[in-house]
Amino acid sequence: MAGIVVVFDFDKTIIDCDSDNWVVDEMGATQLFNQLLPTMPWNSLMDKMMMELHSQGKTIEEIAECLKRAPLHPRIITAIKSAHALGCDLRILSDANLFYIETILKHHGLMDYFSEINTNPSFVDEEGRLRILPYHDFTLSPHGCSLCPPNMCKGIVIERIESSVSAEGKRFIYLGDGKGDFCPSLKLGEGDRVMPRKNFPLWELICSNPMLVKAEVHEWSDGEELERVLLHLINTISIEENSSNNYSQMFSVDCKFETVPISSHENTFPAPSQFLTAAKN
Ligand SMILES: [Mg+2]
Ligand SMILES: [Zn+2]
Repeated sequence: MAGIVVVFDFDKTIIDCDSDNWVVDEMGATQLFNQLLPTMPWNSLMDKMMMELHSQGKTIEEIAECLKRAPLHPRIITAIKSAHALGCDLRILSDANLFYIETILKHHGLMDYFSEINTNPSFVDEEGRLRILPYHDFTLSPHGCSLCPPNMCKGIVIERIESSVSAEGKRFIYLGDGKGDFCPSLKLGEGDRVMPRKNFPLWELICSNPMLVKAEVHEWSDGEELERVLLHLINTISIEENSSNNYSQMFSVDCKFETVPISSHENTFPAPSQFLTAAKN
């Protein structure tokens, strides 16, 4: 085992809130955030909000303490540990920022389970202020993807990960909830799985465009279901891999036949006729 790369979105997937909103709300800066949001990209606004909180005397330690209180379902923790124990390569792909994600993962003892965190860079400057930068420098070289916000196209990142592991024939499982998770979901192939959070924007986009998604779709609603579905998929993919390996071994002895991968085409997603009503909510 295991040729499986599991890519997690972070906000509303690993944690049960949006970390940016969580910090802004907990620090009492919601009104200013809402007032400025129409005037600049989200990622640039978060950098500005950190400057604002700093000028109000809020320290980086207070922001860290606030992040540690962000809700995280206990079953997500066991899901991550089990997937790792089964040999999966776990990665994060998030439009939050490195300081928020590392603070939360370290607090829950989860840092060592991930081989890579792809997110907006951040650092604490000499005045003790958290600076948040865009993943792609969109002023110098726009990424050109119309589906994604200017600071990060998750599809480009998934393609980079895919090309880095393609020689190993790995399968992907992608978990997410938001609009920004649609672009990477479209980059997945037929042997891959996408796990959209039910009734969230990614799920609605997939429901409205089922023909665009090549990966098998498996929805989930909460931490408990995420764990159950994820471990089931890892198990299913492992069985598929084992049976295709056995098949190739069986024939490689004295036959020159090409091996045909055996795949199960189970799909727990509702039939197209059910999409319309479900997505209108
Ligand atoms: Mg999210
Ligand atoms: Zn994109």
